[in-house]
Amino acid sequence: MSECLFCKIIENKIPAQKVYEDDSSIVIKDINPQAPVHYLAIPKKHYVSVHLVPPAEMDLLSKLFHAINQVVKSESLESRGGYRLVINSGENSGQAVAHIHVHILAGRKMDWPPG
Ligand code: AMP
Ligand code: ZN
Repeated sequence: MSECLFCKIIENKIPAQKVYEDDSSIVIKDINPQAPVHYLAIPKKHYVSVHLVPPAEMDLLSKLFHAINQVVKSESLESRGGYRLVINSGENSGQAVAHIHVHILAGRKMDWPPG
């Protein structure tokens, strides 16, 4: 069995609150939300970072953004003040889970530049 937390969630070995699922991606509620809305969009195929996805597999990122769009629309995030997408990659970014995930944050005013 994979030791990856998000692979375990995808395989239903660890529970999570799924808000969206299709053949290629899931979107779950973050367990430690940093905004009133905080979801994680996760491709089902395991890659640590976006730059490690080979050209022949790029379709999984397109499908991941399709999943994000579905959630943005179903939760009306645009009309609720907009949203922020964040992908952490590597040590300096603070990436804690080594499986690609896009944070979807919304519901409050956000600072720029990010911390
Ligand atoms: P990152 O720091 O970009 O790797 O983000 C990892 C995210 O995963 C953090 O926001 C955590 O709160 C979240 N997280 C960790 N464990 C779980 C879990 N079991 N279910 C949902 N989200 C989780
Ligand atoms: Zn994984």
